[in-house]
Amino acid sequence: MDAARGVVENTPSPLRPRGGARTWPEERLNSDRPGASHAPPAYKEASAVPHVLVLNASYEPLGVVPLRRALVLVLENKALCLEESGAFLHSATRIIAAPSVVRLKRFVRVPYRGPVPLTRKALFARDGGRCMYCGGVATSVDHVIPRSRGGQHAWDNVVAACRHCNHVKADRQLRELGWRLRHQPAPPSGLAWRIIGTGHRDPRWLPYLQPYGAEDAMARIDGISA
Ligand SMILES: [Zn+2]
Repeated sequence: MDAARGVVENTPSPLRPRGGARTWPEERLNSDRPGASHAPPAYKEASAVPHVLVLNASYEPLGVVPLRRALVLVLENKALCLEESGAFLHSATRIIAAPSVVRLKRFVRVPYRGPVPLTRKALFARDGGRCMYCGGVATSVDHVIPRSRGGQHAWDNVVAACRHCNHVKADRQLRELGWRLRHQPAPPSGLAWRIIGTGHRDPRWLPYLQPYGAEDAMARIDGISA
């Protein structure tokens, strides 16, 4: 075993092609564990583990993976490092520059991506960090049609809300309160939202995300503190 493999020998490698598959299902990205997309509704928050932006061979952003998975891609010669993070990884006999952005050598098809993953960060960014009922500073997430009344945990039924409105509204519907939404909630569009919505951030990613709507998403995220 060479030194390079020693760095990553214990790394689970869901990015390795299986059975010759050359597509890139969404659940293999933006998720630290298999089957996460089937978990009950929950907000995925960024962890302290360094993450790496993965680009298709066409430079289209595919997703964000933990550093060790990105290293496997590079060490197995499936991806090229485009940007280094400035950190170094040490094995017994070798020092490897940690990647920040990698690009796959072979183009993978992305058949259908579905809506942008619903995360707390992406939701607050979509709503500008403001309560969709009163315009105050949002600190919580509200289901417009309450979950207890069959409301879905989906982009068109969740809004950022201030603590007061969320408390007053409780499990009631808007028509019972005579309230109106400031904007009709809808899923955000643009590939950059998928990346930024994970909560992982790295300024080195920005040039690669700018063509995909990053500036709009980042400006809204930078305007909020939640
Ligand atoms: Zn409010």
